[in-house]
Amino acid sequence: MNREQVVTIAALATTFTVVCESCAHDDASGYGGGSYGQSFAGRLDLDLDGGVFLCRRGHTVVVERERPAAEELGSAAAA
Ligand SMILES: [Zn+2]
Repeated sequence: MNREQVVTIAALATTFTVVCESCAHDDASGYGGGSYGQSFAGRLDLDLDGGVFLCRRGHTVVVERERPAAEELGSAAAA
């Protein structure tokens, strides 16, 4: 069973590299020979808040964009 993975990327990132935990787990179990990369790269345009990606082995990875901290916006005026 695939558990859904959620990773967060920086608010201003358009490309990212994340490690698939399912692959890391498989490699730790000796499944797949461990020669595959556990990480994969993707791209998320700035106007998108998130997306669903597949790693190289087809595990589902949900990527969410970090939101600029609201408190930062609020305190900018005070500071
Ligand atoms: Zn994977």
